[in-house]
Amino acid sequence: MIDWPLGVLIWGLAASVLGAGVEFLMMGELDDTLLDHTILTILIAAPFILVAMKLISHLDQLQRKLARLAATDLLTGLPNRRAFLEQASVQTDGIVLMIDIDHFKRINDTYGHAAGDAVLRSFAEELRASVRSTDLLGRIGGEEFAAYLIDAGPEEAEKIAGRLCGGLKMAVEESDEVLTISASIGAVESVTGQDIGDLLKHADDALYAAKAQGRARLVFCPTSAALARDAA
Ligand code: GH3
Ligand code: MG
Ligand code: MG
Repeated sequence: MIDWPLGVLIWGLAASVLGAGVEFLMMGELDDTLLDHTILTILIAAPFILVAMKLISHLDQLQRKLARLAATDLLTGLPNRRAFLEQASVQTDGIVLMIDIDHFKRINDTYGHAAGDAVLRSFAEELRASVRSTDLLGRIGGEEFAAYLIDAGPEEAEKIAGRLCGGLKMAVEESDEVLTISASIGAVESVTGQDIGDLLKHADDALYAAKAQGRARLVFCPTSAALARDAA
């Protein structure tokens, strides 16, 4: 965005050159110098240009804010499903994780929806702190999150699982109780050119297996290696 004083100057110059050109064409000469034209035009036009530029800058800020809001999950502040898919779809190599809090419904049922929301916020914070700043995160469903660990190997996924699957202590809002939360994680290795939809489907299958094996664990999609070989 051009700063308003510069904007006024540019507009003033452009308008005065245009005005002087028209005057020269019509009269065959110029009454005043180009500098006089410029000063006069700037004086007359400045307030209008100023208002217009302020409006444009305000609209620009509003548009950016709306775009940010449209891409953000309002409860956790993480990118929402659409934004995650958009960012992840241009990545090529790494590990894709589907992360689901275990027995979350019980928290809602026992402590209420507001306490459940607070747990979701705390869990999202924990998730943020567990990944590297270059990794992608998203809240893609109620108590489901996704991560794209860019250019990472399985050991990076193991590290995250070490933090999230073991048992996170979280205080229940407006109560003395401390909950122990765990998550199950399904993982798949991404190989060049693979569709993010397919990757999430494989990660979801692995997540399903993690739940079936007793929850609170990381399971790699068994087809990861085969997928990688196929693509090689
Ligand atoms: P599992 O270990 O198999 O994943 O069991 P679960 O209880 O975590 O999963 P289930 O799918 O049975 O329940 C998920 C619950 O999450 C049900 C739904 O009401 C709740 N939920 C979804 N979105 C939100 C939300 O934004 N806030 C709160 N508080 N609860 C939510
Ligand atoms: Mg769950
Ligand atoms: Mg779920």
